Amino acid sequence: MSTPNVWNFGPGPAKIPTSVLKRAQDELLNYNNTGMSVMELSHRSKEYESLNNKAQRDLRTLLNIPNNYKILFMQGGGHTQFSAIVYNLLSAKRHQLGEDLKEEFNPPLDYLITGSWSSKAAEEAKKLYNNVNIVFDVKKLKGSYGSIPPKEEWKLSGSKAAYVYYCDNETVNGVEFNHIPEIDPSVPLVCDMSSNILSRRFDVSKFGIIYAGAQKNIGAAGLTVVIVREDLLIRSNNKNSDIPAIPSMLDYKIMADHNSLYNTPPMFSIYISSLVFEWLLELGGIEAIEKTNSTKAERLYEVINNSKIYKSPVEKSVRSRMNVPFRIEQEGLESEFLKGSIELGMLQLKGHRSVGGIRASIYNAMTLEGVDFLIEYMKAFERKHCQ
Ligand code: PMP
Repeated sequence: MSTPNVWNFGPGPAKIPTSVLKRAQDELLNYNNTGMSVMELSHRSKEYESLNNKAQRDLRTLLNIPNNYKILFMQGGGHTQFSAIVYNLLSAKRHQLGEDLKEEFNPPLDYLITGSWSSKAAEEAKKLYNNVNIVFDVKKLKGSYGSIPPKEEWKLSGSKAAYVYYCDNETVNGVEFNHIPEIDPSVPLVCDMSSNILSRRFDVSKFGIIYAGAQKNIGAAGLTVVIVREDLLIRSNNKNSDIPAIPSMLDYKIMADHNSLYNTPPMFSIYISSLVFEWLLELGGIEAIEKTNSTKAERLYEVINNSKIYKSPVEKSVRSRMNVPFRIEQEGLESEFLKGSIELGMLQLKGHRSVGGIRASIYNAMTLEGVDFLIEYMKAFERKHCQ
């Protein structure tokens, strides 16, 4: 059966490079001459161990991850990290303040809210802990997401905080930071990079923890990559227990001590990720893909900027290069646009159900050709409706 020709603009699970899928297909029944599929191997086997190590090495090379950071392959998606962070970093802060601490232990957790994912992360933290400090919430300030307030307006807690949390790219709202926030250097910076990791170069050493679900720029759902600075793996051995005990599956130290083999890992997803890492290295690494990503986003935003019908809900300086939401104000035209796009094989362009509109997700695996195809359609649609 031949594959229908489609352009997948889905926000995640998202397009995986065709060459990666073909290779997985070729190797599906016989991984590395084992006579078995990678899904059937023991996770304690030599073959899997070397796959696990190679995937980590390649990711380290791609992102230039310093040696004092561990790479963890975890499960449960971004949602699970929303709570893993709270447990792990409260414990690290408890240790940092000293085991003989006399005063009450209640450090603030600072959250920057720029869209629905950081908002959800803060809500999850509130379920576990009573001192969550909202540094700012753009929706509360402006009525909707689409901007980031200037630093002077941020209400950070300074060195008292156990961490500062933000989401580098808000997948639903199309808001992306154009810089790494500057915070008190003694406080770990925690970042959700689920939808823009591997899309551009950045300095890992500025972060305490970076995490990303795999299903956008890394590979297949099921794997969550966590990059954690080693000093944060310190655990408080406080017996009075003024911090919650960490469930083993959320414990970064346990995962690190077992090289992500504490329990059965999502091996197939890690395998696909390792093929994506190889694909990126062959392309010329992050620098190369970053150039293509910038060109794709520039071309798409240019059409929106010069259009009489398409409107971006996001301020120019913080527009995402990965998720490009736009609206057509005229009644009924958005559904006509989406219907027409599907007929031409452009799939999953519908905006998130919470915000509506249209959203083109143009992750690493979306080609320039795919973006140009969309652009031609957008221009033709505008000509038809705007004489
Ligand atoms: N953070 C971001 C930025 C996301 O885009 C998503 C999912 N789209 C999540 C967190 C939640 O991830 P998961 O569905 O893997 O739990």
